[in-house]
Amino acid sequence: MGTARDTIRYEHLETGVVRIVLDRPETRNAQDKAMLYALNEAFDAAAADDEVKVVVLAADGPHFSSGHDLRDASSPMTPFRPVGCWGGFDLPGAEGWLAVEEEIYLGLCWRWRNFPKPTIASVQGKAIAGALMLIWVCDLVVAADDAKFSDPVVAFGVGGVEFFAHPWELGPRKAKEMLFTGEAVTAAEAHRLGMVNHVVPRSELEGFTTDLARRIAAQPSMGLKLAKQAVNQTLDAQGQWTALQAAFGLHQLAHSHNMQRFGSLLDPAGLGHFGGAPPVPVGPRPPGLGDVEVAHVAQAEEVEQGRHT
Ligand code: ZN
Repeated sequence: MGTARDTIRYEHLETGVVRIVLDRPETRNAQDKAMLYALNEAFDAAAADDEVKVVVLAADGPHFSSGHDLRDASSPMTPFRPVGCWGGFDLPGAEGWLAVEEEIYLGLCWRWRNFPKPTIASVQGKAIAGALMLIWVCDLVVAADDAKFSDPVVAFGVGGVEFFAHPWELGPRKAKEMLFTGEAVTAAEAHRLGMVNHVVPRSELEGFTTDLARRIAAQPSMGLKLAKQAVNQTLDAQGQWTALQAAFGLHQLAHSHNMQRFGSLLDPAGLGHFGGAPPVPVGPRPPGLGDVEVAHVAQAEEVEQGRHT
C-alpha cells in the first residue's frame, strides 16, 4: 500500500542494515492502520532484499509510541489488503471487531515475530500498551535510559494488549504487577528482567543500536536465520503461540463485555487512571465506539505532558 508510507520511513543505514522508523511524532507515533500496513510492507521489503541482513525498528520524537491509535478504530479496512485469512471486518457484534484485531494486531505481530532476519527495537521515552507489541516482536531491544514500558489497559477493563507476551518478556510475577498496577517498568528494571538487552544514554541510542546491527550484519545470513528460528521454535515448543491465542480470546471477551456494559470497547473508568485529564473528543464520534477515542486523547495528553509514568 504505497499510500501509507508517510507514516514510517525506510532507511538503508549501511550495508546490510535497514532502519524502519515510526514517523508520526505529532501523535507520539500512535499506530493507525496505515502505519501498521506500512510497517508490514517495510518488513516485506526487507525480507525480499537479499542485501538486508538486520532490521532496526526505531521511532521519531521523544517517545517510542503511545500505542494503538484508537481514533482510527472505526476506519474501514477496505484500503488495505489483509495478510491473513480473516474477513467480515464490518460484521455486527463481536464478530467484526474480532476479525479486525485478529488481522491487524495479533496477525501482523505474529507475522513480524516470525520475520526471518534479526530485528532490533530501539526505544526511547514512553512505550505504552500497543507500543509493547512492536517492541516484543523484535529479537533484541536497546533502550535509552529514559525508556519506560507500560500496559495500563486493566484500568479500561481489559486484561492486557492483544499480543499478550508479558509473562514471556517479564516473568509471571512482574507481568502481573505491571498489569495490576498499570505502572511503568523502567529501562533499568526491564534490563534486569531480561526484557531489554542494553540500556544506553539517550544521546547514544542511535549509535549504539547501529553498531550492534553492524556487528550482527557481519555474520552469515544463513547462520542468523537458523539461530533465530531455533530460539523461536524453543518458545513455540514451550507453548508461546498457544498462550498468545488463549490470551487473545480473553482480550476479545473484554471488548465484548465493555461493549455490552458501556457501549464502548473500553471501560471509560480508565480515564481516571490518567490523572483526570480532560476528555477532549477529536472529530466525529464513530458509531459504537463510545469513549474509546476520548481515552486515547487523554492518554496522548499524558504522554505529551510527561505525567503518565
Ligand atoms: Zn483490542
